[in-house]
Amino acid sequence: MNLTSVDECLTALSSVIGKSNRFIGLHEPTFQGNEWTYVKSCLDSGWVSSVGEYVDRFEKMLCEYTQIPYCSVTTNGTSALHVCLILMGVQQNDEVLIPALTFVATANAVSYCNAIPHFIDTCDLTLGIDVEKLASYLSEIAEIRNDVCINKYSQRPIRAVVVVHVFGHPADMQPLQVLCKKYHLKLIEDAAEALGSYYNGTHVGHFSDITAISFNGNKILTTGGGGAVLTADDLLAKRAKHIITTAKVMHAWEFMHDEVGYNYRLPNINAALGCAQLEQLSKFIDNKRNLCTKYIKAFEAVSYAEIFKEADFAKSNYWLNVLILKKADRAFIEILIDQAYQHNYGLRGLWKPLDQLPMYQNCPKMDLSHTHQMYDRIIALPSSVCLSG
Ligand SMILES: *Cc1c(COP(=O)(O)O)cnc(C)c1O
Repeated sequence: MNLTSVDECLTALSSVIGKSNRFIGLHEPTFQGNEWTYVKSCLDSGWVSSVGEYVDRFEKMLCEYTQIPYCSVTTNGTSALHVCLILMGVQQNDEVLIPALTFVATANAVSYCNAIPHFIDTCDLTLGIDVEKLASYLSEIAEIRNDVCINKYSQRPIRAVVVVHVFGHPADMQPLQVLCKKYHLKLIEDAAEALGSYYNGTHVGHFSDITAISFNGNKILTTGGGGAVLTADDLLAKRAKHIITTAKVMHAWEFMHDEVGYNYRLPNINAALGCAQLEQLSKFIDNKRNLCTKYIKAFEAVSYAEIFKEADFAKSNYWLNVLILKKADRAFIEILIDQAYQHNYGLRGLWKPLDQLPMYQNCPKMDLSHTHQMYDRIIALPSSVCLSG
């Protein structure tokens, strides 16, 4: 641990963010467009709840933006993920491969299906799933019986992979698609953080069967709380709409529901906010990428660490900028975050690797030593859209 380096980091931070009298959070929303008008029109018309013109408009705008044909907006990203897993046939006693380095919601959604998260290691290039390691791991633990991938050690079916585009950086999808095909695994994209991110020139969400996005208050675009399920498959899209709408069968006045559904529809008032935010997304992304460039420059002077950069195949939305230490150093992270708070900068550590949380510590996993090391190397920096206007 090196106190001079802590000072160097603080200097670099203040050269980008400037001095501030108020606390600067990790990620704060910005409302400078039609948010006020659209939300007010919901209040004026009384259409505040789960049907309304903004819901339809927001879904249409998301399809246009991502070029994915079908979209259902949901109460949050976690419910969107839950729906994705249900529609991919994940059920009780299945295993679902997910990275150990993600927000807890990815694992929780698996648990809501009474299935078991199975943790995968992370690679340096994308901070997402290490596809090469996953390939060699599957060759060791998996076998195909009757077209189903079985974990030889637990005897449970491995049904799906949830790939996460961590901090908005696309995972390496092409080899992952090949691997999932080989092992008969469904592929789901947790693009909660990645609206506006592209892999080889195509928006994320095109590389899997079904995709979840989040519009939580700290994401690049917010509806207050909200999420979306996106797919190119019309039958899956119909099923998604159905189960998020309490499985209600269309009828003018009768209450008929044909299965156990969920109340996961996004309210109109939230969708109104989403429409106004989506109108500004290109500008948000420009700002984010600008901010990243500034951070990269400022931290060139710091030999101890560097700012994470997108891979060659990626165009990232840079939802969250992160600093990566060259060597794992927990003490450094703790002191830097503590010192930064005294300058009103809200830095954060990484999510605790999920295999270390009490409810997930007995789940199956591959060797996660790299993930555990990353936990002691990564610091998230203030990344709000307004920081680089
Ligand atoms: C935010 C997030 C979610 C969950 O979204 P909510 O809208 O908060 O429910 C899921 N996965 C990842 C990777 C996230 O960052």
